[in-house]
Amino acid sequence: MGLDFSGKKAIVTGGASGIGRATSDLLRSSGAEVTVIDRETDVTNRAALEHAMEAAGEIDIVIANAGIGSQAALTETTDELWDSTLAVNLTGVFNTVRIAARLMKPRRRGAIVITASTNSYDGEANLTAYNATKAGLLGILHTAANELGPYGIRVNAVCPGLIRTPLTEAHFLNPELLKDYFRHIPLGRGGEASEVANAIVFLASDAASYITGAALFVDGGQMAAKFGTWSEESAEFVVDRWRLK
Ligand code: NAD
Repeated sequence: MGLDFSGKKAIVTGGASGIGRATSDLLRSSGAEVTVIDRETDVTNRAALEHAMEAAGEIDIVIANAGIGSQAALTETTDELWDSTLAVNLTGVFNTVRIAARLMKPRRRGAIVITASTNSYDGEANLTAYNATKAGLLGILHTAANELGPYGIRVNAVCPGLIRTPLTEAHFLNPELLKDYFRHIPLGRGGEASEVANAIVFLASDAASYITGAALFVDGGQMAAKFGTWSEESAEFVVDRWRLK
């Protein structure tokens, strides 16, 4: 990407897979010292998370990315699914951002990036718990950006659309589903983890020095295209993307 993170220390939660892994790889290859926090330190365990984040040293960048998601109709959403989704996606991010803020405030600098979702805004069916957590992240985003701005700490979010990772493997194995889903995406395809990592790393960098409180869609235009984009009249779906004939 051409950004230089030499001398910077970063933490990435959920950094062992998918978007988090692509982000840690990119930060590392851009010069940062990266601590990955994944399931060996559960983000829902505040004390363990605090210990791991303090052990990383004087951190400059924190990526609050760990997340889970399971589908269930509203009436089939169990207490267990609701509680576990909130614990990781909402309380886990709250824990991460709160600890990051405490560690960064005395140094009067830092950048935090939260992985939210297009589902922070959208009511995609069968994802009540997931959607509630991702909408809730915008509350953390806006409030933290407001409170931490005076300390020189920027807080931003990315809102990915459908990205090819282990979390979405089932989607990407279903061409009929993809054809229908990508009909509503101006760029005509799903995203790659590296494309989200590029946005996260930009927001974490000094190149985004006047950006805080922002939620950046990384969704191929999905949220701009309410009425759909592609049709068989002018295009065809080949393998995993729409192309003009
Ligand atoms: P992924 O499953 O590949 O990666 C998630 C990582 O989080 C895994 O390494 C997992 O071990 C870790 N994790 C889960 N629970 C944890 C916990 N309690 N403590 C610590 N680590 C934990 O999925 P991904 O697609 O890379 O998802 C990353 C983030 O991006 C999530 O917040 C997800 O909601 C969000 N997101 C993904 C998509 C998509 O289409 N893939 C779209 C929008 C948002």
